[in-house]
Amino acid sequence: LRELIENLMDSSRLQAGTLKMSFQPLRLDTFLKDMMQRAKSQDEDVHVELDIESPGIQIPADPTRLAQVLDNLLSNAMKYAPGSPVYVTLGKEDQVAHITVKDNGPGIPPEHIKHLFERFYRVPSSNITIRGTGLGLFIVRRIVEAHGGEIKVESVVGRGTAFHIYLPLERNTVEDTISLRESTS
Ligand code: ATP
Ligand code: MG
Repeated sequence: LRELIENLMDSSRLQAGTLKMSFQPLRLDTFLKDMMQRAKSQDEDVHVELDIESPGIQIPADPTRLAQVLDNLLSNAMKYAPGSPVYVTLGKEDQVAHITVKDNGPGIPPEHIKHLFERFYRVPSSNITIRGTGLGLFIVRRIVEAHGGEIKVESVVGRGTAFHIYLPLERNTVEDTISLRESTS
């Protein structure tokens, strides 16, 4: 219930443009290790694997908000791809950090992909017992955009789903302002 209320509050703050971000240098490898530990502590049977291709990357980020992003992607993988291992990678491409969160779960049918990041959108499924509000990915996307980054999804039905997050290694204030303005419109 607390999570639901927090999601609703964040979502309203995003709509109102009052979600505050507080940026500081963040080492992504140790950050991701902590996030994996946290996922494991929620369900010790889950198999999570972290592959750090580029160690020592540091980016300007809001650690609490970025933790929220990883929490939702990891918990989605655990909820919607039960029994599947969850693979997380960290790499570097040009001037961006690239994080992937991938599972070998049921995947998402292509007609739903374009709606995934909408407020309250959930893929209609026969398994109605999985709880959620459909706010998670909406919040995730807005937080990534507020970091000047981008999120993409790749999914194949019967094979699995991969979320790709691209985060700039340096902060570009002009772009940040634009992406924040777009996010709140
Ligand atoms: P909330 O995160 O607010 O508790 P939620 O998990 O339903 O609720 P989102 O995180 O926004 O909401 O996810 C939206 C929908 O995308 C989910 O309901 C699910 O149908 C689908 N989905 C998300 N991640 C995966 C995944 N890894 N595999 C299959 N489907 C997924
Ligand atoms: Mg979710």
